[in-house]
Amino acid sequence: MKAVRLEGLEQLFLRDVAPPEPGPGELLVRVEASGVCGTDRHLLHGSFPSTPPVTIGHEFCGIVEALGPGASGFAIGDRITADPNIVCGRCEPCQKGRINLCRNLRALGIQRDGGFATHAIVPQSQAYGLPASVKPEHGAFCEPIACCLHGIDMAQIQAGATVAVLGGGVIGLLTVQLARLAGARQVVLSTRQASRRRLAEDLGATATVDPTAGDPVAAISGPGGVLPGGADVVIECAGVPDTMRQMTHVARAGGTVVVLGVMPKGETVAWEPFDVLFRELRVLGSFINPFTHRRAAELVAAGTLQLDPLVTRRMGLDEVVNVVRQPAQPGEVKAMAVA
Ligand code: NAP
Ligand code: ZN
Repeated sequence: MKAVRLEGLEQLFLRDVAPPEPGPGELLVRVEASGVCGTDRHLLHGSFPSTPPVTIGHEFCGIVEALGPGASGFAIGDRITADPNIVCGRCEPCQKGRINLCRNLRALGIQRDGGFATHAIVPQSQAYGLPASVKPEHGAFCEPIACCLHGIDMAQIQAGATVAVLGGGVIGLLTVQLARLAGARQVVLSTRQASRRRLAEDLGATATVDPTAGDPVAAISGPGGVLPGGADVVIECAGVPDTMRQMTHVARAGGTVVVLGVMPKGETVAWEPFDVLFRELRVLGSFINPFTHRRAAELVAAGTLQLDPLVTRRMGLDEVVNVVRQPAQPGEVKAMAVA
């Protein structure tokens, strides 16, 4: 079968590999759709750790083709989405319910073979059923949706709240939709590309801001801004120093700031402790998808979110290598390999 193999730093190839055999408790899945994530580029360049050689792809869904010994809960022909993050269940964070902080976290597509392949092995514990009626490319959104859901949960958005989202990639555009679903009255998105601002408004943002047109902090939380005095909740979804500096200033006094965006390890930005203290801000990190994958699958199954407008490129497995090697192209939101 074909698989996109990361064989070392900057070494990504489409290879012919032996079809995998499901082990005990595992499912053999024929991959139907598999999304490209910024993390795939980080894996290639070594800015996110992985254990090559490995088949990349951690956002995928497919059809169960075979069950390994003792596997149960699924039947041949079922459509499933895979939660790629496998936790040990035995370490201290796991035993205290903080499974995303597992000390032995191993992920499909990062440490174990993932979804940019004709077939993938998914432990039954990581599989969540999707109805046959769900479009495969929607199924492949479950993982990023699950990560955004955790951010929404951390933010504790109340009905009627105001929310500012900084960064309009796929994570920001999903977060805009989920914030509305969580009850936000106003959701403002700041992102540089005009096409994404228009898309965000179609998807439920009540206003958008062009951060290159002036000071985005003033445009959002200044006296004449969209949310004068600041947002109840700010969700950072860009992972760049500019937005990491802006995020606390865009929050209202007593507000909550959630960091979803990933900055390279070791990089720092300046912040003002007095402001966080005096305006009693809650600044929280949100890492991956603890206990949110099922809810993501249920939202996808229900068709609650608008996902079609987020798919900007459909391709075969043979194009994945080039797409991952190139930086994200202007206008690209989600590039997806579809079988
Ligand atoms: P992405 O496509 O790179 O989206 C980030 C977007 O932020 C960029 O495309 C860019 O869009 C916008 N941006 C850049 N500079 C900006 C600025 N100065 N002001 C406002 N917007 C700016 O990546 P993504 O897939 O949506 O992911 C977003 C972040 O979340 C990444 O850092 C990713 O690693 C992280 N992530 C975290 C988790 C988690 O578990 N916490 C899970 C998945 C992803 P414009 O060109 O329109 O400005
Ligand atoms: Zn653990």
